[in-house]
Amino acid sequence: MANIHQNKGNILVAGGAGYVGSHTCLALAEAGYTPVVFDNLSNGHKEFVQWGPCIVGDIRDELAVKQVFQDWKPVGVVHFAALIEVGISVKDPVSFYETNVKGAINLISEAYRSGVKGFVFSSTCATYGAPEYVPMDEKHPQFPLSPYGNTKLCVEKYLTDMRECCEFPSIALRYFNAAGADPEGRIGERHDPETHAIPIAIEAAMGLRPGFSLFGTDYDTRDGTCVRDYIHVLDLADAHVCALGRLLGGELGGAYNLGTGTGTTVKELVEMIRKISGEAFPVAESERRDGDSSVLVADRSKAKKELGWVPKRGLEQIVQDAWNWHNK
Ligand code: UDP
Repeated sequence: MANIHQNKGNILVAGGAGYVGSHTCLALAEAGYTPVVFDNLSNGHKEFVQWGPCIVGDIRDELAVKQVFQDWKPVGVVHFAALIEVGISVKDPVSFYETNVKGAINLISEAYRSGVKGFVFSSTCATYGAPEYVPMDEKHPQFPLSPYGNTKLCVEKYLTDMRECCEFPSIALRYFNAAGADPEGRIGERHDPETHAIPIAIEAAMGLRPGFSLFGTDYDTRDGTCVRDYIHVLDLADAHVCALGRLLGGELGGAYNLGTGTGTTVKELVEMIRKISGEAFPVAESERRDGDSSVLVADRSKAKKELGWVPKRGLEQIVQDAWNWHNK
């Protein structure tokens, strides 16, 4: 349980009212830090902020960013605040660059000027682009396929330059498919509009949608549907705490994949959701979705070796926790 008496200091969590951000606040609190959430609540949820103060502000606002560093004197920063819908990034790159790049620059520059000793950045396997080999390790070439992926890569590059030129310690965590929820049901996944496979299939199982569409059944995979590496959001949260601990302990950082290393096809995922829910909801074959890679699976050996991070939860728990959350 949260040990608030063991205060290891304030951690500024930009985007801490969102999905992965709020679960990371829970993990930070359990590790003895005080998560100070900075979020404009455009996609985040105030009720997800349960483990520390919630400062409503925007990372694009340089003065507001300066103020939050002055007021809370964080020893570390974990940065999630970003626009994440790939499809929207193609239609509106300006908003993506303003929030994801300009906002991140504000935070990183201020963290550096304030003497912060650890900056953890929420990045993505979308920075790799089309897989040249799987599982993908961190040396895989990075050629993103969307403005969204490009914005995340821009920030990784700024952090790399800051590590190499200024010894500013940082870690970029490249997530594969974040999924699941807090098993105690306090927080979970809520996006509007929802585009992710697990919540959509769960809503179908709950009768909130007529059914689930398989986007493409002619991929070169074991059953023709796309393969993804689903990683429990609490395993992601633990990785952020590990990464921060390494940086605050004096390491300079780098980039790490966060996945399980195991691939699941969309059909296998649907079967798991049918099993956990006990509902045989309708599933229809449909066209491929633009921009989907056939297989995305992480090589997670670097995170194990250097951060000591190993995921503890598998697909069944992911689906069970997501199912419980959506039924709350
Ligand atoms: N998918 C699907 N039907 C849906 C939503 C997603 O078949 O209604 C597929 C999608 O094409 C992809 C996988 O499920 O292969 C995971 O999609 P999601 O949007 O959850 O994550 P992504 O891998 O795109 O980040």
